[in-house]
Amino acid sequence: MRYVSTRDNSKEYSFKDVFVKGLADDGGLYVPTSLKKFSSNELSQLKNLNYNDLSTEIINQFSSDFISKNDLSSLIKKSYSTFREKEVVKISNIGDLKLLELFHGPTLAFKDIAMQFIGNLYEYYLTKNNKRINIVVATSGDTGAAAIDAIKGKSNLNIFVLHPNNRISPVQRKLMTTVEDENVFNIAIEGNFDDCQNIVKQMFSDLDFSKSINMSGVNSINWARIIAQAVYYFYTYFKLNEDKPISFSVPTGNFGDVFAGYLAKEMGLPIDKLIVATNENDILHRAISNGDYVSKKVKETLSPSMDIQLASNFERLIYYVNNSNSKITSDIMKKIKQNKYQINKSNLEIIQKDFVSECCDENETLEIIRENFVKNDIILDPHTAVGLGAAHKLSFNDCVVLSTAHPCKFPAATDNAINRHKELPSELQYVYGKEENFQLLKNSTDEVKNFVRSKL
Ligand SMILES: *Cc1c(COP(=O)(O)O)cnc(C)c1O
Repeated sequence: MRYVSTRDNSKEYSFKDVFVKGLADDGGLYVPTSLKKFSSNELSQLKNLNYNDLSTEIINQFSSDFISKNDLSSLIKKSYSTFREKEVVKISNIGDLKLLELFHGPTLAFKDIAMQFIGNLYEYYLTKNNKRINIVVATSGDTGAAAIDAIKGKSNLNIFVLHPNNRISPVQRKLMTTVEDENVFNIAIEGNFDDCQNIVKQMFSDLDFSKSINMSGVNSINWARIIAQAVYYFYTYFKLNEDKPISFSVPTGNFGDVFAGYLAKEMGLPIDKLIVATNENDILHRAISNGDYVSKKVKETLSPSMDIQLASNFERLIYYVNNSNSKITSDIMKKIKQNKYQINKSNLEIIQKDFVSECCDENETLEIIRENFVKNDIILDPHTAVGLGAAHKLSFNDCVVLSTAHPCKFPAATDNAINRHKELPSELQYVYGKEENFQLLKNSTDEVKNFVRSKL
């Protein structure tokens, strides 16, 4: 399969380019030039596969010129062998709705599902080709832990993780900063997540720098993450075994997870609506409900992994709704940079065929956690609560809510709502008392570049 950049589709790339680089040199995101569309007959042949085999079938559609199906299959098995659920994900009931529990991996958030896969994919590529790379990634809390767990101790790889200082939960931070492997470097930035993400983007677009250190990215813009996430939409649809299209409510920050749902739909999976659920950082809700894609100041909320104003993956949707026109996409991205983009009426109509949106403020999030504790005896993490709240507010009565994190990662939110919290699973409790290691740096791309250089 061939790929192009959303900002210049005159040049084609291979899967290797796409996954090793993450972001295109022109600043755009990689997208495939065509998509496999499964017929209903083909879908029924995937229906009874276990999670690993289903992953192999879906991902192989995108990566077959890079890795053989056999190698892919063993790599996927290895990636999910550490999960607490044998089938990787678990579907449970919550009232009339379903929860898709995606947090049974090593760092207790859905990001493990894609990241464990990516970590092994890197190792496969680098050892085969005797290459070294440096991964630089910005995190709002969960990506970093998942990436570090996936990459720690692997040969030919270093990982540098930028997190916004004091703006992630202590458990999130400890899962990153207590890792001792020598190829792991944690950096706390005096700024918010968007600042961290901006620094990483600037490092990438400084081609002299990024090429000189063989820089690579594993942020949710990485196409390999998106395809690994598309798998659980398929899996859920097959497991629920309904005869009608189903809807998913997705707690959203960077638009990666929900874009994976869109990809599954474009590949022929009968999905009705994708609910984009946001916290008070509601740019995507404003965008999808009335076209207003103007970013405001980031607010700190109970669901910090969604405290994002500029959703990188939205660029892929912009590209698709503009008929894969990279000139138009580039122009829109310039407008977004000046914070002047309003989605036009015809684009908005196209977007609203697949997406609806809602936002939950802090009180609503707490109320959802309370209500479900009392009614259903479940402790929800605040991100999942936003997903559930959005589904309720939109009166979706039989959709699947993606449960993106284990509640023990966000004890402050559940303490606040119901005066209790979950402890970490016993095998992770060692992080509570362990020494942390990170470097505090100013919100400055140059400082980060210097730090990275000094470690190589
Ligand atoms: C990252 C994250 C999200 C948001 O996912 P995106 O792909 O950025 O939209 C939601 N919930 C949790 C717990 C997360 O870690």
